[in-house]
Amino acid sequence: MGLIKQASAELMKSSYAIALTGAGMSTESGIPDFRGPSGIWTKNPEAERKAFQRYEQFLASPVKYWEERLSSPSLLGDLEKMAPNPGHYALVEFERMGYLKAVITQNIDNLHQRAGSKTVLDYHGNESRLRCGSCSARYDREEYDLEGLRREGRLPPLCRECGGVVKLDTVHFGEPIPPDVAERSLEEVEKCDLMFICGTSAVVYPFAGLPVLLKQRRGNAKATIVEINAEPTPLTREGISDYLIQGKTGLILPKLVDELKRKG
Ligand code: NAD
Repeated sequence: MGLIKQASAELMKSSYAIALTGAGMSTESGIPDFRGPSGIWTKNPEAERKAFQRYEQFLASPVKYWEERLSSPSLLGDLEKMAPNPGHYALVEFERMGYLKAVITQNIDNLHQRAGSKTVLDYHGNESRLRCGSCSARYDREEYDLEGLRREGRLPPLCRECGGVVKLDTVHFGEPIPPDVAERSLEEVEKCDLMFICGTSAVVYPFAGLPVLLKQRRGNAKATIVEINAEPTPLTREGISDYLIQGKTGLILPKLVDELKRKG
């Protein structure tokens, strides 16, 4: 049996499937990944070095952090101009058919939500939002006139709930995962009997530890872990995933939908 047929059969017999996604999910929407062959960091290691300093900068000088954020364009491009691709829509379809219960994404691009997925956990935050560094209250970006605050010398933005300093909702390197999202993600992993892992190099922790936790789970029936990625990852090599369907998520996921429809 081909791997696509096998994965669709496993999806049909699963009772609680979830999908973990990464930057590879959005490359077909025109958003570069970090570590793929044309990734931002593969081409520009200096950008990686700066990214590692961002959270420290926020803690040390929120004003400087905000001035820099507002004067440098996002490395990922203008995300509002990007559109979801067939891979995102396939996950919406899995959810609509009742198989997929949640998407846990490392992506900050909001494309799962814009495609129509209902249950999305933004593990690394969401570029369209801001978050209080103290109480984790979230705000839509438009709720703050950031340019106005800069002009008036009133940066950083302050939280309307607790007065804490507001940052981008995106989780920077070295910054803890917001506790509400970390907890919900663990609950989803605990409940699932099938996990798809789509378009991630699986080297960023603690996200990459979620499949490992599932593999080591005790007291519950064994879960199946299926990777869909352009290349093998540490999860493939270390036998954490049961198998890899190698190729583009924007091609493979829609094929799985076709297969489900053919059988269903
Ligand atoms: P990564 O860049 O480390 O790895 C991407 C993986 O996806 C690579 O293995 C690559 O070969 C594979 N890939 C690329 N295009 C693919 C496709 N069309 N189909 C299947 N596989 C494909 O990305 P990561 O593991 O998500 O880690 C990067 C971190 O950077 C994450 O924390 C994420 O928050 C952030 N990031 C987000 C975005 C976004 O929001 N779109 C983009 C870049 C980086």
